[in-house]
Amino acid sequence: MSELKTLPHVALGVYPTPLYKLENISAKYGRNIWVKRDDLCGVALGGNKVRKLEYLLAEAKAQGCDTVFTTGGAQSNHAMLTAACAARLGMKCILILKKRGVTEHLGNLILDDIYGADVRFMDTDSYGDIYDEMDRVDAELAKAGHKSFHIPVGGSTPLGAVGYTNCVREIKEQLPRHGAEVSHIVSATGSGGTTAGLLLGARVYLPHTKVTGMGVDTDPFEDIVPDLAAGAAELLGTSLDRVPGDFRMVYHVGQGYAIPNPEDTPYIEELARLEGILLDPVYTGKAWAGMLKLLQNGDFDGEGDLVFVHTGGAAALFAMGLA
Ligand SMILES: *Cc1c(COP(=O)(O)O)cnc(C)c1O
Repeated sequence: MSELKTLPHVALGVYPTPLYKLENISAKYGRNIWVKRDDLCGVALGGNKVRKLEYLLAEAKAQGCDTVFTTGGAQSNHAMLTAACAARLGMKCILILKKRGVTEHLGNLILDDIYGADVRFMDTDSYGDIYDEMDRVDAELAKAGHKSFHIPVGGSTPLGAVGYTNCVREIKEQLPRHGAEVSHIVSATGSGGTTAGLLLGARVYLPHTKVTGMGVDTDPFEDIVPDLAAGAAELLGTSLDRVPGDFRMVYHVGQGYAIPNPEDTPYIEELARLEGILLDPVYTGKAWAGMLKLLQNGDFDGEGDLVFVHTGGAAALFAMGLA
C-alpha cells in the first residue's frame, strides 16, 4: 500500500461507526451479511454525507470561508447534514433546494430550520439553474465581505469521495476481530461520491473486496464513480489501480429517483422487525432490497460475506413514509 497524503480534515462525526453481523438476516438468507452503521455517526440522525463534509468543510475553513452553499431536493439528507455541520463550525449555511412540488414542512425541512440554515426554494429541475443562483447570491454576499464555499449536490466531488475511503479503512480494522471473509461492499449510489470512496478504499485497504453500487437514480454511474475515485486517488497522492470485476453498478430505481418502490417495502419491514434497523425509501431501502434480490437470484453465489453500508436517511420516513 502506498503512503497516502494527509489532507485538511475536521472531525465532525463519531467514528468508527459500528460494524456487526446481522444474525437474524444472515440466518434467513443463508449468507453472512454485515452492516456498517454510518447512520449512527453522531450528527443529527446520521448519514453518509458527514464523512464527505469532514474534508469539504475543512477545505472551506482553510480557504477562509464563512458561508457554505449547497443544494439537493427539498428532503435532501445532504443539505440537512451540511446545515448541521456548518453550524457546528460557526459557518452560515445557505440551502437552495429544488422545490419540485414540495409544500409540506416535514422531515429534513424541520431539521434544516433547527440547524439554523437559510433555506430557499427554486422551482426548477436543473441544478444548473441552482448553481447560477448560488453565484448570484454569492456575489451579493461578497460585496458585504463574506467568502463562500460551494458544495455541489450530494457533496460528490473527488475531495468528498476521499471521506469514504476512511469507511473502508475502518471496516478493515474492525473485521479481523470477527474473522470475516468479505467479498463485497454494497451501498446506495445517488450522486456517486460514496461508492467512489468505497471503490478507492477497497483498492487501497481491502484489495480482494469488490464494490457494488446500487443505483437509486439513472445517471451513468459506471463512469461517474471511477472518475470520482480516480480524482480522489490523485488528491491522496496515489492512483486508482483497477482490476477486472472490482466494481459494478446495479440499478434499482423503480419509478424514479425519490419515488418509493412498493416491492421494497417487505424488505424494509423485515430488516426493521428482525434487526431493529430503519431504512429510508429513497436510498437505503432501495439499495438493501436490491442487494437481497441479487442474493436471492444467485448473483453472489460462490462468494463470501457481504457488508452493507447503511448511509442514513431515516428522516425521509417522516416526510413520505413507505410505498
Ligand atoms: C446521499 C445519500 C446516499 C447516496 O450517496 P452518494 O454519495 O450521493 O451516492 C445514500 N444514502 C443516503 C441516505 C443519502 O442521503
